[in-house]
Amino acid sequence: MSADRVPLAVVGAGPAGLAATAAAAAAGVPVLLLDPAARPGGQYHRREPRAFGARDPHALSPSGRDWHARAERLLADPLVTHRAGATVWAAQHRGDGVLLATDDAAGEVVADAVVLATGAHERVLPFPGWTLPGVLTVGGAQALLKGQGVLPGRAVVVAGAGPLLLPVSAALARAGAGLVAVCDAGDPRRWLAGGPRGLPPAKLAEGASAVATLARHGLAVRPRTAAVRARGDGRVEEVELARLDARWRVVPGSERWVAADALATSHGFVPDLGLALALGCRLAGGPTPSAPPAVAVDAYQATGVAGVWAAGEVTGIGGADVAAHEGTTAGLAAARAVGGAVADDALEAAAAHRRADRAFLTALGAVLDVPDGWVGWMAPETVVCRCEEVPLGRIDDAIAHRGARDVRSVKLTTRCGMGRCQGRMCGANVAGVVAARTGAPAPDAAALERRPVLAPVPLGRLGGA
Ligand SMILES: Cc1cc2nc3c(=O)[nH]c(=O)nc-3n(C[C@H](O)[C@H](O)[C@H](O)COP(=O)(O)OP(=O)(O)OC[C@H]3O[C@@H](n4cnc5c(N)ncnc54)[C@H](O)[C@@H]3O)c2cc1C
Repeated sequence: MSADRVPLAVVGAGPAGLAATAAAAAAGVPVLLLDPAARPGGQYHRREPRAFGARDPHALSPSGRDWHARAERLLADPLVTHRAGATVWAAQHRGDGVLLATDDAAGEVVADAVVLATGAHERVLPFPGWTLPGVLTVGGAQALLKGQGVLPGRAVVVAGAGPLLLPVSAALARAGAGLVAVCDAGDPRRWLAGGPRGLPPAKLAEGASAVATLARHGLAVRPRTAAVRARGDGRVEEVELARLDARWRVVPGSERWVAADALATSHGFVPDLGLALALGCRLAGGPTPSAPPAVAVDAYQATGVAGVWAAGEVTGIGGADVAAHEGTTAGLAAARAVGGAVADDALEAAAAHRRADRAFLTALGAVLDVPDGWVGWMAPETVVCRCEEVPLGRIDDAIAHRGARDVRSVKLTTRCGMGRCQGRMCGANVAGVVAARTGAPAPDAAALERRPVLAPVPLGRLGGA
C-alpha cells in the first residue's frame, strides 16, 4: 500500500494541535489533523458525542463554548483535513519525510513536516485498594461527566494532587454528586513558588470560583491530606484519609476511614512521549527533580529532529493556554519550513508568548512536584503495574536480590510495563520506586515508553504495514 503524502501532519486535536493547525492553515499550508476522538478538543475541551443530542451541549463545560465554535470553523477550512478516529500507532523518520501509521481505514501517511501535540495523561499513585471498582482517576470522573453526563458516584472522595482537583470537584458538586471530601496531598502555598504574579488572572478567577462553589456545598480543600487506602466488598465502600508531612509520608495517628462509593484520584500528569521517542526526539528533565521528562524543544518548538516540531503538554505540563501558545509557534515554524507564508514578526510574537508564560510554569512545576513519601503508602502486595499485575513486593525483590538497578531491568525482571498500556500508567511510579529504593534519581523514567508499536492495533494492520 503506498502512503498518501501531505505537507504537514498535526498529531493530536487538543489545544496545542488545534492552534498549530490554525496557524499553519492561515499561512496557506494544507494540514492533516489526526486524533482518535470523534470530535476535536483533547482532554480539556472534551465533548459528549453528537448522537446524545444534548439541549445545551456546553452546560457541563461552559468554558469550551467559544473554543468549539472556533474549532468548527477551522475544520470547515478547505486547507484542513480532520481525520477523526485515527490513532498514530507507529512512526518512522525516512529520507523523504515522516511516515505515520494510523489505525483507521486510511492507514499510512508521509508528511514533510509533523507537529506532535499528543498531550499528557494523568499519573495515579498506587495504594492498597486502588484497583477496586469505584476508584477512578480525577480526569476519568471529569470525562464521565463532560463526555457522558454521568456521575461517578453519590458519595465521592476526590483526593490527589495538582490543578485538576479543584475544577473537577467543583463540577461534580454542581452536577449533584455528594462530595465527602476534597484532599490535596500538597500544600496550596506551592502555587506561590513563582510569586503571585506568576498566576494568570484567568486561572486565579477559575480557582476562586471553584473554591466558592465548594464552599456553597459546605466543603473546603484539605491540604496535605491523601487517600492512602480503599476497601470494600467487590467495590470501594470506605476510603482511608491521612495527613501527610512535607515528603508525603503519613503522619502516624492521623488516619481516618470515611464511607464513599467512589474515589477520584490522580497526582499530576505525565507527557505522552511514545511518538516523540519513536522519531528520535531528545528528552529534557522537568522543572523539579520528581517531574517526568518531556520532549526538549527550542524557542520555536523544534525538536532537533528534521521535520518534527512538538507543542503542548508533550513538551512539559503547562495547561491549555500555554499549550495553545506553543501550538501557534510550532504551526507557524512548521508551515514556514514547508513553504508557508509566515512573516518573521508573526513567528517572533508567537514565541514571545511562550517566554511570558515562564512565571506560571515555575508555579505549576512546584505544584506538580511529587515527593517520594507515597512509596510508603503501599504494602508488598499492592499492585504497581495493573496490566501485568506486578505487586510492589516483586519489584522490591528484583531490586534487592536480582540485580535490577534501573527501570528497564526492573521491567525485564518483573514484566511491569509490558501489558496493554505499555507502561503509560506505571512507568513514572516504577521509576519512583527504583529511585526511592536505590537512592539515585531515575534518569531512565521514560524507559518504558520506548516501543515500536505505540497503541494496540489489529494483527491484520501490522501485516499490512
Ligand atoms: C484527564 C485530563 C483532564 C484535564 N482536565 C483539565 C481541566 O479541567 N482544566 C484544565 O485547565 N486543564 C485540564 N487538563 C489539562 C489540559 O487538558 C491540558 O493542559 C491541555 O489539554 C493540553 O493540551 P494539549 O493539546 O497539549 O494536549 P491534549 O488536550 O491532551 O490533546 C492531546 C491529543 O492528542 C491525542 N493523541 C495522543 N496520542 C496520539 C496518537 N498516537 N495518535 C493520534 N492522536 C493522539 C489525544 O487523544 C488528545 O486528543 C486535563 C488533562 C488531563 C490529562
